Amino acid sequence: MGTAAEPWPATVAAWMTRPVQELGVGQNALTVDVEDYFQVEALAARVSRADWDSRECRIEANIHRILRLCDAAKVKGTFFTLGWIAERYKSLVREIVSEGHELASHGYGHLRADRLTPEEFSADISTAKNLLEDISGKKVLGYRAPCFSISTGNLWALDVIRQAGYAYSSSIYPIRHDNYGLPSAPRYAFRPFADDDFVEIPVSSVRMFGANWPCGGGGYFRLLPLSWSLAALNQIDRHEKKACVFYFHPWEIDPDQPRVKELPFKSRVRHYSNLGRMEARITKLLHQLSWSRIDEIFPVAGATNA
Ligand SMILES: [Zn+2]
Repeated sequence: MGTAAEPWPATVAAWMTRPVQELGVGQNALTVDVEDYFQVEALAARVSRADWDSRECRIEANIHRILRLCDAAKVKGTFFTLGWIAERYKSLVREIVSEGHELASHGYGHLRADRLTPEEFSADISTAKNLLEDISGKKVLGYRAPCFSISTGNLWALDVIRQAGYAYSSSIYPIRHDNYGLPSAPRYAFRPFADDDFVEIPVSSVRMFGANWPCGGGGYFRLLPLSWSLAALNQIDRHEKKACVFYFHPWEIDPDQPRVKELPFKSRVRHYSNLGRMEARITKLLHQLSWSRIDEIFPVAGATNA
């Protein structure tokens, strides 16, 4: 499996030698993981996959709100969309594309890459790519693993992603976290393989006290003060002169979503904290920094507008 089969410290050392330069300075990547509230890992213990179809679906209304927020701020972004959502909401996929956003893949069934065999993983991400391309009529270049589930135990996954025909992945979060993270990985975009242009684009983290701290979205963005997140993102933008990669979910701007009962305390805090404040925060974020699509910020093979 190429360089991904090397022992991982050597692999990570090689990654460090292959940084990828952004196409322009001062632009940041806005990314949205298009999944519904009941598909989230934090709720997986209480929501069975078999029940997904019977849950109240909120994705259409929430994506429409995000499209309006982006339009008001004149921002285009990259939407990592689940195949499961795309095949049920085809017109939503077409709306994302017709509004000028980049359509990318979040896999078919929101399956963690570190719980699949290479064959199962390949089937999931290929199904999603084909579905998204059939529905949108556009080539899908990017993939993001659910829960950033590519780490030292499954570096083979990057090779499977490129074999499936993707030009880039945004699946590594170079931080320490109980559910994910590869803290020794480069903080900025790099080429995982010496022999082709495939790019991995990690989510943003900031370096403090000798460690990487998450500042690219998720529960942290909702739990910490907005001023902290803005300071961290500005540090990357203005001082390190690199592009931030930020992500959020449609359910994060939906304080009225149906509550899943009997969740463990940690899951409850992670999923439900500060949902009511999120839309205003995202609005400020969109206006205070410059945002664009991944395929316009990074040199991605096959991008027509890069
Ligand atoms: Zn996800």
